[in-house]
Amino acid sequence: FLLCILSVFLFSYTNKTSNNSNDEDRFVNDLLAKMTLEEKIGQTNLRGTSSMTKALPEDLKRAVRNGEIGAFLNISNLDYVDELQRIAVEESPNKIPLIFSRDVIHGFKTVFPIPLGIAASWDTEVAKKSSEIAAFEASAMGIRWTFAPMLDIARDSRWGRIAESPGEDPYLASLLGKAYVEGFQGDDLSSPTSIAACAKHYIAYGAAIGGRDYNTVNLSEPLLRNVYLPPFEAAIDAGAATVMSSFNEINGIPASGNAFLLKEVLRDELKFDGFVVSDWDSTEEMIAHGFARDKKHAAELSANAGMDMEMNSTCYADNLKQLIKEGKFSEAELNTFVKNILRIKYRLGLFEKPYRDKSHTGNYYAEAHMEEAKKAAIKSSVLLKNDGVLPLDKNTKVALIGPLAHAPHEQLGTWTFDGEKEHTITPVNAFKSAKVNVNFAAGFTHSRDRSDKGFKEAIQAAKASDVILFFGGEEAILSGEAHSRAYINLPGAQEALIHELAKLNKPIVLVIMAGRPISVSNIMYKTDAILMAWHPGTMGGEALYDMIYGVAEPQGRLPVSWPKTAGQLPYFYNHKNTGRPATAEEFIEMDSIPIHAWQSSLGNDSHYLDVGFTPQYPFGYGLGYSKFRYEDLSISKDTIDFNEKITIKARITNVGKRASTELVQLYIQDVVGSITRPVRELKRFEHVYLKPGESKEVRFSISSKDLEFVNHKMVKAAEAGRFNVWIGENAASGLKTAFYLKE
Ligand code: BGC
Repeated sequence: FLLCILSVFLFSYTNKTSNNSNDEDRFVNDLLAKMTLEEKIGQTNLRGTSSMTKALPEDLKRAVRNGEIGAFLNISNLDYVDELQRIAVEESPNKIPLIFSRDVIHGFKTVFPIPLGIAASWDTEVAKKSSEIAAFEASAMGIRWTFAPMLDIARDSRWGRIAESPGEDPYLASLLGKAYVEGFQGDDLSSPTSIAACAKHYIAYGAAIGGRDYNTVNLSEPLLRNVYLPPFEAAIDAGAATVMSSFNEINGIPASGNAFLLKEVLRDELKFDGFVVSDWDSTEEMIAHGFARDKKHAAELSANAGMDMEMNSTCYADNLKQLIKEGKFSEAELNTFVKNILRIKYRLGLFEKPYRDKSHTGNYYAEAHMEEAKKAAIKSSVLLKNDGVLPLDKNTKVALIGPLAHAPHEQLGTWTFDGEKEHTITPVNAFKSAKVNVNFAAGFTHSRDRSDKGFKEAIQAAKASDVILFFGGEEAILSGEAHSRAYINLPGAQEALIHELAKLNKPIVLVIMAGRPISVSNIMYKTDAILMAWHPGTMGGEALYDMIYGVAEPQGRLPVSWPKTAGQLPYFYNHKNTGRPATAEEFIEMDSIPIHAWQSSLGNDSHYLDVGFTPQYPFGYGLGYSKFRYEDLSISKDTIDFNEKITIKARITNVGKRASTELVQLYIQDVVGSITRPVRELKRFEHVYLKPGESKEVRFSISSKDLEFVNHKMVKAAEAGRFNVWIGENAASGLKTAFYLKE
């Protein structure tokens, strides 16, 4: 009987979904049949409008009226949005609605921590909730498509866009990618408060040589498939409506004209059924790459590679018609592009409800949104060092010093077009309104200030206080697109002031707000605590107040290895051994954390004489306000068959004095492979909340599926042999055991 009910349910479910897709196909095909060639090309045209300031230009209105434009990006004026949509759905030949898109990257009005900060939360709920709120706020402006999430694995802190990345690990990045898509798109893309996500930049944009933006990428196909592709796969599995191709070339072929990536991998293998948009001008940029002769050739290359929509440049708009006439591109392929685009417009419900719902105000900066932003800032802040000074007692007199102590715009971080600084709560705002005893003197006009003019006042403030809170770091503009740095220290004269303050022999807490890991090797021994807040967003000040006074505990863990100096970059925990190995064990034993900046590593020749082999802080690292003991590691079997599961468990005890959340991490190492395997790979993690003295047995289950990788023949499979396993608190520690996968 139960089976009967189940099959009826399954039948009606599959029937319903296939009916939906039948309706969708029918609608899209019927519409396509009515469209002229010019209108079809129009759908592939995404116009940038940043120059549109005073009034809507007549030629733009005419183009929409003629059906020559399919979508717009970054229009700030609501009246323009409404008017352009009205022209499209009332006056254009087939009344096809436009999509309005924007870079809604980490919040819209209510700004959340930068994506690298969200990654540090290791919490998919934070990623999901922040993007859900961003979608809710942005959709009130008529925006139904965001250019997020950015899913580029980033292994080089010099690269400015590491700030927008999910970090260096493919497993963590994949979980985040899925969560972001779910948050932006909701359960139902046609809901007026959902927005279409865009998994970008496809692909390997983060692997640019030297961390210089847009730079050449050379990488092997197994590396592409094992490290860079998984987050995109996860986002597409979660239903990401769109994908953006990247600026860079890969092994000589620009990603925006790369048929292997856009057709074979994305469509044939990953079964992506949304549409692909180029990055800003990336089709035309193939000319500068030395891959296309001119705009017409660029259009031919992008179109034949399978790019559906062109952002900003007009290679398609100017040339597709002629290319079809000359037989260099086919109308049948163009039809596929148009169907891909119309399908997403249909799923967004734009044909039924093209306009924003005027009763939906977005509730900008609503209390609930601000609360979530604060929670996210706490969950993403990483306590790197604490000699016991934190948390502070409420009666402590504090000096608030540093360029980020009261910098309402800068603390929001890169890619914030809409978050107004008037709503930002800075540390100075938060500490003053909490009525703690505060002496404030920034000491600098901005983070790059090289002058010592403000030192005197800052030292005065420090003298009048018990503890120095130095809010250092980078202005928002020092990370993000085209903002790479070669030195990744605190910029300007910040280090110099810290050295001066250290002479006062008072505890110094360094709070960093920045878009990347900052090299602290010159100053860490002058500080008593270091708290990394990334760019924490609108509610950063309140979150920091709570963490500094112990109302809350910093809960983040590093989503990227933290280098001692830029000279070590690129650096990532899941690297390979050389033939002169630091074996995984040596790697652990070499270091007790914190590592002295100039300690060289033992037993390993693949190091720098002056900084050794290890990072300042490893991937996965972060302190809380308590301590945990790991013990009783055990494994359910020592040998498994293919497709069999294995359980690994350990007992975690809170041995400190306050309730705290620990992030328990499981790593594996495939000891011998048909292609060499990383020294460690993250496979599972779990947050565990424990009261003092309380303990919990944490269990992880993995199967041979988790051991798979793509080999040199591009086959994805697990290989028999020995696997080391660690359960620990970061990528450089842990209790270790091993098991075998049978032949
Ligand atoms: C960036 C993209 C962004 C686009 C639109 C480009 O320069 O690389 O990430 O979505 O501009 O603003």
